[in-house]
Amino acid sequence: KARNPYEKEFLQTIEEVFKSLEPVIEKHPEYVKANILDRLAEPERQIMFRVPWVNDDGKLIVNRGYRVQFNGAIGPYKGGIRFHPSVYIGIVKFLGFEQIFKNSLTGLPIGGGKGGADFNPKGKSNGEVMRFCQSFMMELQRHIGPDVDVPAGDIGVGGREIGYLYGQYRRVKKVFENGVLTGKGLTYGGSLIRTQATGYGLMYFVEEMLKHNDISLVGKRVLISGSGNVAIYACEKATEMGAKVVAMSDSSGYILDENGIDLDTIKRLKEVERKRISEYLKENPTATFTKGWGNIWNEKCDVALPCATQNDIDLEKAKKLVENGCIALGEGANMPTTNEAIDYLLEKGILLAPAKAANAGGVATSALEMSQNSMRYSWTAEEVDKKLKSIMINIHTNASKASKEYGFGYNLVAGANIAGFRKVADAMLAQGNY
Ligand code: NDP
Repeated sequence: KARNPYEKEFLQTIEEVFKSLEPVIEKHPEYVKANILDRLAEPERQIMFRVPWVNDDGKLIVNRGYRVQFNGAIGPYKGGIRFHPSVYIGIVKFLGFEQIFKNSLTGLPIGGGKGGADFNPKGKSNGEVMRFCQSFMMELQRHIGPDVDVPAGDIGVGGREIGYLYGQYRRVKKVFENGVLTGKGLTYGGSLIRTQATGYGLMYFVEEMLKHNDISLVGKRVLISGSGNVAIYACEKATEMGAKVVAMSDSSGYILDENGIDLDTIKRLKEVERKRISEYLKENPTATFTKGWGNIWNEKCDVALPCATQNDIDLEKAKKLVENGCIALGEGANMPTTNEAIDYLLEKGILLAPAKAANAGGVATSALEMSQNSMRYSWTAEEVDKKLKSIMINIHTNASKASKEYGFGYNLVAGANIAGFRKVADAMLAQGNY
């Protein structure tokens, strides 16, 4: 706290993770002796840089870029890039810290990192987004590489942005290295199923968690916050699994459609036309639109899937969910639930699939993209989907085992933290006092 007084999101995730690690530390004095927790909480490296670019009116704008290479003990740094006006070092560090454990949980050899900029792509022309991405990459390229640090997308960074970033990287490098970024288009090294992976993976995990508790997803009423990459593919898979998604949102408010969300309309509005969610009503006039970020959680549901951003569900909203009969919550976004809300939901017996485990399908499939790039080969959609599903089931098994082993019963929040931590901590111990 004394070292990072203004980084509130980072302190929040530290508190959440370290609380679960108390019994682990008690049982393993070697971690205390090696001061693993202090070492884990300090990034190996953090880079901040100027990103100057010229807008369509010919004005030079300056944004701030970030890359935090948090922990490389088990593999090259891996984690997305976020473009959103709220981005500052506290957000990049919280995301990078979470990424260490998430990447470890996938069972694949990837370390934790994260990056971004306080740039708002909303309302910008393609030309402006491209010039920004090119300027961002001119600096970032000094610090990344297929065996060094491999960024991907996150909020505000999708296929379009990855394309521009990769184009600039290729332009300044002599060697062909398409494994430097993941989430690429299919024509230049992208993996099938990467676009769908986080949302699909979330649903594979939630289904597994419900199955473990003898509950079926069929016929369940689902709310999904957000309408971006994770939300859209969570909606697609949940519907395919027999659940009924009745509401989705963006930062302006949410739509409620008792007929079940018409995903084709959402995909067109969000992926192609980049419009507001309220436009959904033009084609689906029986649906309703309610203004206000966060109001979606006032609706009745069996399963809540926050897939937008951090701190979406606070204690008050958690209480509302419980009051309305919610039985399970699956975190598609990173840290969408505050620490108070997590404690409350667990106390009330709500099944909680924590982000580190439940949204790890995205980075896991990114690691599969890296493997395909190294092999100069591509797997079919069925092959990637099968690998993704088995990774998600394994994460559930490992998190539930770790939770039980350290006396938490069936608590996936604690279990994911512990299972993710043990592998990284043991690798750090083996590598000496770095
Ligand atoms: P997108 O940019 O595709 O979508 C984000 C969605 O959340 C939009 O609907 C957006 O609404 C809403 N949103 C974002 N920030 C805010 C905010 N501050 N206030 C209100 N609404 C907001 O991002 P993704 O779907 O890729 O990411 C969503 C979450 O999932 C993030 O937490 C991300 O870290 C996490 N995640 C993503 C992965 C991936 O593979 N993409 C992998 C693992 C985790 P609006 O358009 O109105 O801003």
